[in-house]
Amino acid sequence: MKKIPDENGFDFDVIVCGGGPSGVASAIAAARRGMRTLLVERYGFCGGMATAGLVNPWSGHEYPGAHSVKKGSIIGGIFKEVSTLLAEGGGFGSRLTTYAFDDEYLKGVYDRMLAEAGVIVRFHSYLSGARVERGYIKSVHVLSKNGTTAFSARTFIDCSGDGDLAALAGCKFDIGRPEDNLTQAMTTSFRMANVDKEAMYRCETHREARALVEPYFQKALASGELHYPYRNFVHFYDYPRAGVLHFNMTRVSEASGLSPEDLSRAEMEGRRQAFLLAGWLIKNVPCFSHAHLEKVACQVGVRETRHIHGLYTITQQDIVDGRKFEDGVARSTYFIDIHNPKGAQDVHQAVGGRGAVRGGFAPPPGDWYEVPFRCLVTRDCSNLVVPCRALSATHEASAAVRVMATMHALGEAAGIASSEAVRTGGDVVGIPGKWVRAQMPWMETAPEYGAPWNSASLMMGAAEGTATR
Ligand SMILES: Cc1cc2nc3c(=O)[nH]c(=O)nc-3n(C[C@H](O)[C@H](O)[C@H](O)COP(=O)(O)OP(=O)(O)OC[C@H]3O[C@@H](n4cnc5c(N)ncnc54)[C@H](O)[C@@H]3O)c2cc1C
Repeated sequence: MKKIPDENGFDFDVIVCGGGPSGVASAIAAARRGMRTLLVERYGFCGGMATAGLVNPWSGHEYPGAHSVKKGSIIGGIFKEVSTLLAEGGGFGSRLTTYAFDDEYLKGVYDRMLAEAGVIVRFHSYLSGARVERGYIKSVHVLSKNGTTAFSARTFIDCSGDGDLAALAGCKFDIGRPEDNLTQAMTTSFRMANVDKEAMYRCETHREARALVEPYFQKALASGELHYPYRNFVHFYDYPRAGVLHFNMTRVSEASGLSPEDLSRAEMEGRRQAFLLAGWLIKNVPCFSHAHLEKVACQVGVRETRHIHGLYTITQQDIVDGRKFEDGVARSTYFIDIHNPKGAQDVHQAVGGRGAVRGGFAPPPGDWYEVPFRCLVTRDCSNLVVPCRALSATHEASAAVRVMATMHALGEAAGIASSEAVRTGGDVVGIPGKWVRAQMPWMETAPEYGAPWNSASLMMGAAEGTATR
């Protein structure tokens, strides 16, 4: 086997693997603290699910709730900066979905913030291996057109979503739910353009707008005109562009996001469902009669794979109790959103409720829960943190904490802690989570109602009747 050249000494202070919401925030936080920071990303842009997966809108930070008219946020820091830049560029907030964002614009926002922070970004580079000595990562192997290169650092942040680096480094993990290791269903997101949104814009929220389309969908399912056993209610969001709606309605279950065979099947099946549904909408629902399928996500959306064993594992009870922690580094109002590993009825869905969340799956109304820093710290590697979707959580809790606003906050905490480890010459496992929390002052403040959180509502007042975003 060809030997991979390994750098001598520490080339970087911090290496971040994966440039999704958690990875971007991690890298920016570390670089701003003076760390020589490398971000490795397999695509040619950052954003992960938010861009490659076309996932929208931001969730997790909204207070008092996603569907109220007055919007607030319980997450500040880098997430707020990102949202403010999106809002300044007209890429944030739509009439019916306050936290929708323009994913093309987001790519530019992330590029700019990474460059300004001084992060060294290496796109088109795939993490493929790690050299580990006694629970300490020495270097990561990165595959590109030029072959495999090793990069070394003092500390590493796994933001691959799937916990790839942790797994390569020998950390223990679980996959999916305990009884059968099945993971949440995957979804290929897609967008419809040239939709006549006029009638929808007489509604207050996307929920009300969906109700306009729902009767057509239910009738078609009941009559057998549409064979669509994947999702049992209409699920779309408004998007900050004229005539565009974002759909989260395809489903591929019993597929593993770690298996290239399953992923290949999921990509093709997800696209098939997207084309099927878009064609049906165009033919049967009046406001779609001049619409077209504008865009299908360039990768199927994977909701769940590995859960790394961390110093603390967050549980369903923590979410439902709205539990706070001394070392809490993210707060969230997001519910336990389990897209059924088998079948169209979501696990959290009240029977017949078409999207309504049943008891025992959300924090108390008006309250939030926190995610402790210990969920990011692995038990098996002293210089690695995992602030991405693969953090230490049960199947149920993972379904709540995985959302993108939360991921920005956890990434920021990981960047702060890793920098402190480098600065003090120790390992990240030794950084007190309580100290990390203290570096994130918004963790202690009241929910914030100012811009950019209410930019869409402000827009509604300013531009009543127009569909310009
Ligand atoms: C269909 C779907 C709908 C969702 N809906 C919502 C929603 O409405 N609101 C919400 O807030 N959240 C939603 N989520 C959840 C959210 O999108 C993800 O949980 C979140 O993006 C996870 O962030 P992350 O940074 O951990 O990983 P990701 O966003 O997955 O980013 C991981 C990054 O790492 C890169 N990467 C992976 N492996 C490697 C490797 N080996 N080498 C190099 N690079 C690598 C990827 O290319 C990617 O850029 C949804 C998710 C899905 C799948």
